[in-house]
Order: sequence, then structure tokens, then C-alpha cells
Amino acid sequence: MAIEPTFDVTITKLRAAGLRPTRPRVGLGRLLFEGPPRHVSAEQLYQEARSRRLFVSLATVYNTLHQFVAAGLLRRVVVHTGQTFFDTKVDDHHHFYDERTGFVRDIDEREIAFARLPAPPPGYAITGVEVIVRVEAQPAVDGKRAELPSVEGGAGEPAPVSPVPRS
Ligand SMILES: [Zn+2]
Repeated sequence: MAIEPTFDVTITKLRAAGLRPTRPRVGLGRLLFEGPPRHVSAEQLYQEARSRRLFVSLATVYNTLHQFVAAGLLRRVVVHTGQTFFDTKVDDHHHFYDERTGFVRDIDEREIAFARLPAPPPGYAITGVEVIVRVEAQPAVDGKRAELPSVEGGAGEPAPVSPVPRS
């Protein structure tokens, strides 16, 4: 049976990006694209998919995420070696990163200005500059640490999404 509802955000998005709406792509796409903008690691998305009874392998999650990046649906944010987040906000922007909690939060592109950039190596052009601003919660007067608000993704609760259609 073909997946063909009258209107579907994720399926429309996949088709517009030239990706066939396979079951894993639609299922993972729903988790990624049908809520507020977010940053998610492959492992987090894998756990989320399982908790929603979308049984895909971790390899499928990685493959699908990389296909989404190649199709321009996601942006890869490497905060340090071995820690990559996939960002549903694909336009130019920067990030705050809390190393203690692994929390990532957006910084609007206009919030950071560069006074000077180096000339690229011969034969190269600069195609983008990404800034990771590392932050650490500071103890407050009452001894409690500040926490970044959990509205922009990271390890927060996923937004409710519609169920995955059976193909
Ligand atoms: Zn972001």
C-alpha cells in the first residue's frame, strides 16, 4: 500500500528534496520535522524511534540522517570529535554548547560578527563559518547551577508526532 495522505508535512518535505518516502525516512522524518526546531544525535533519535515503536537499526538511523544532510533537510553540527548533532534548522547560525550536559542551543547568525577572516588557501573559497560557543553553568548564589532552557532540542522530550503509516 502506498503512503498517500492528502497532505503530510514530512512526505511533502521528502519529495521536495528528491527523496522517496520510505518507511524509515517517513518515521524518522516525523520525529525530526514535525515539532519545534531541534538538535539531535543519531543515538538519541534511535532511542526515540524505538520508544515510539519504529524499529529501525542504528545503522539505518545513521544512513537516513546522512541522506537528510545530503538532501539539505538537516545540518550536521560537530561540537567535538565523536559528538555530532543533526540540526533541523538548516540556515546559517551558530551554537552554544554545554560540555557538561551536551546541550546545544542556537545563536542567531546576526548575533556574531567577524571583524576579520583569513584569506582561504590558494584555490579555495570560504563557504561557511560556524562558531561553537562553549558555555558552562555557573553556580548561583543559592548554590544551584543555571540550566539552559529545554525548548530548543538537545536531550529534551520529543514533540508529539503523528503515527508512522504502514507501507
Ligand atoms: Zn542549530
